[in-house]
Amino acid sequence: MTDSIDSAARTRPLRVFLADDDPMWRYLTCCALRERGWTVEDFESGHALLAGFDDHPPDIVLVDALMPEMDGFEACRRLRAQHGAEPPVLMLTSLDDERSIRSAYDAGANDFFIKSTHWALLVERVRHLVRLSEMGRQLDVSNEHLARVHNAARSGSFDFDFKTRILTGSAGSFHVLGVDDGRTSMSEREFKALIDPDDLVLLVDAIDRACASAVDFSVDLRTRAGDGGRFRFLRVDGTPVRDACGRARGLRSLVRDLTDDVNARAELERLYSHDALTGLPNRSLFLAQTGDAITRCARTGQKVAVVVLDLDRFTQINETLGQIAGDELLCQVGQRIRAVAAGALPADHARPAAGEPAGTGTQAGSANPDVPPAGTMVARLPGDEFGLLVPVHDDEARVEAMMRTLVRDLQAPFQVAQTECFVSASIGIAMYPRDGDTAGTLLSRADRAAREVKARGRNDVAWYVPNLNSDTRARLEMVSGLHKALERNEFELHFQPWLDVPSARVTGLEALLRWRRDGRQVSPAEFIPVAEDTGLIIPIGEWVLQHAATMLATWLRQGLRLERVAVNVPTIHFERESLLTTLRSALHLNGLPPSSIELELTETCMVRDFERTLPRLEALIRAGATLAIDDFGTGYSSLAYLTRLPITKLKVDRAFVAQLGVSRQGAAVCRAIVALGHSLGVEVLAEGVEHETQAAALIDLGCRMMQGFMFSRPVPALQVPGAIAAAESIAAARLVRALRTDGAPSDEGVIVEARIAC
Ligand code: C2E
Ligand code: MG
Ligand code: MG
Repeated sequence: MTDSIDSAARTRPLRVFLADDDPMWRYLTCCALRERGWTVEDFESGHALLAGFDDHPPDIVLVDALMPEMDGFEACRRLRAQHGAEPPVLMLTSLDDERSIRSAYDAGANDFFIKSTHWALLVERVRHLVRLSEMGRQLDVSNEHLARVHNAARSGSFDFDFKTRILTGSAGSFHVLGVDDGRTSMSEREFKALIDPDDLVLLVDAIDRACASAVDFSVDLRTRAGDGGRFRFLRVDGTPVRDACGRARGLRSLVRDLTDDVNARAELERLYSHDALTGLPNRSLFLAQTGDAITRCARTGQKVAVVVLDLDRFTQINETLGQIAGDELLCQVGQRIRAVAAGALPADHARPAAGEPAGTGTQAGSANPDVPPAGTMVARLPGDEFGLLVPVHDDEARVEAMMRTLVRDLQAPFQVAQTECFVSASIGIAMYPRDGDTAGTLLSRADRAAREVKARGRNDVAWYVPNLNSDTRARLEMVSGLHKALERNEFELHFQPWLDVPSARVTGLEALLRWRRDGRQVSPAEFIPVAEDTGLIIPIGEWVLQHAATMLATWLRQGLRLERVAVNVPTIHFERESLLTTLRSALHLNGLPPSSIELELTETCMVRDFERTLPRLEALIRAGATLAIDDFGTGYSSLAYLTRLPITKLKVDRAFVAQLGVSRQGAAVCRAIVALGHSLGVEVLAEGVEHETQAAALIDLGCRMMQGFMFSRPVPALQVPGAIAAAESIAAARLVRALRTDGAPSDEGVIVEARIAC
């Protein structure tokens, strides 16, 4: 049953309430969750969130910790006061406020999520919480059910005579003890031999006290009889039988068999605290065990390390091999981590042999099978993250050495779906007491250290360092600045014309994004990669598309003879369904003719997953786009793919143009690209043309379209008409006239056409 809950929460679309005052975050989070087919209702404040509750509560609430008027903590407290323990609440906090994490739990939140655009992680965390809450409800139902079962449980009654030391009862009663030979009596010695020695001490003690003080007794016991020697859980309720003088002469007792109930409860508890896929302890149990370890260490003065292991590029593996293979890989990775963790322990800390029947650990307080005596534990945190809890026995270097072994061992290939797979991991470590004194703080700090490793190039180990280095801080500031830039109108588009050289005419413009931050222009080379990494490039790219289309429509109305405007589209935007919708609406709202928006994509973006990409490209063309390959020559595309791509233009990367006249290879590459373009029947445009010599060399190679500083730098929209006129006159004067002085006939266009044709 719990399995079915698990898979239901894993697959069914969820209904989510999201409260965040930052419209950009709301927008991004909504997009990421809705993409999974989930229903998301978003609210801009804590008040709006509370007012949004009706008879049909959501599966989960996501609430931003820091909001004006009513913050997330207060909203969570009120929600709990009004609606009780359901639905689960995930508190969204920013990277810098560790205190929020603590306060989140105090306010009644079930977990926290440090705001990032790691959407897969957020989705897993949300699913995990919903799953836990559904299991919690199921556990309540099961407890009621257990109580009913209890009443109908198999039971037997016995008499014990202190004088004869004989236990008597019906054959059915003895069956409850696991004795099935039809007997109706048993000696005291035989009875004691059935009972677990530890529990026998409890029973004897309880009987002595009952006889001395005239009270009844009740004891839970384990016996090993029948069932192939498996434990049987019994509850014995007894009362002393007294003679006329009040002396106890025997006992009368009722024995009930609780084995099924205990096993069922233990199994439920196991499922509740373990990851269904890998069988490893889950995040809740990991946090609970970390809390226990901290309490123990506070008593003994020891240290304990919390480790987060994040698989590198796991999403790509999932996409390539499919989710089932991805799941299988996660299981194998979990096993390998456990093996390394167990192997790294000293001999006296080795894991106890498995094989105890279910439930013994919890019921009798024997060793928890998840945690070897030394306390090392491996857990699966949601998604592609694993957690380790490692006692720091003597020096910290041993923990780091163990993690380096793990990094190395994980590099050996995994066999999944008849394919050899390679993974690597980024590992972050935080240690109690140095880096924090709560499970949540240590986990988030280890997580932060793991992210640092990722940012530095992955596949390594790092300890949490309290002060972020200046690079990371600058990046964080850039991320937060980018979040606000759209809202604050800090983006601007500049446009760079391109020319059709034979006619000396500007036929189109490339839109290039500019960010004016605190009065300073930030270079696209700095902020575009950050916007791509964080996913912010999607709302930004949509703005670019709309704005570029509006400007083109304006210029067409003014009478400029332009064919199209080009917009740069990065891979992550290309992969979104929303690109198609934005393109359609940009064309439609501005009344633009089809083919008037050119999307510049990179080679790698187009051929990455060719069979899946092709229909998307075709859909974009049907919607009215033309497609160009930007920075051509840097992506090493296979010719086989190129011939099948529905593109209109190749843009020769400016690095090759810069080599014209400098190296022989430069000319050779440009010649090859131009020839390739002609054989494919597409336009070839040379980027970054700065000098007349380059332009002349390109004409000689047969390239007729050019863009570069020689004609015009990228200019703000208002300067576009002037820039077009200037570029056209430069082309006419410097290229066409220069060619005429070579002694060619007088018609400018014809001369250049002739040179290009050669
Ligand atoms: P790109 O698409 O290859 O754009 C051409 C870049 O070359 C522009 O740099 C342009 O200013 C520069 N350029 C043009 N002619 C010359 C020349 O003659 N000499 C030299 N040295 N450079 C020239 P910019 O504007 O700095 O953009 C750099 C890159 O940032 C772009 O390369 C593009 O990849 C990206 N980018 C710019 N705007 C956007 C945008 O709106 N969205 C996305 N996703 N990326 C953009
Ligand atoms: Mg471009
Ligand atoms: Mg380019």
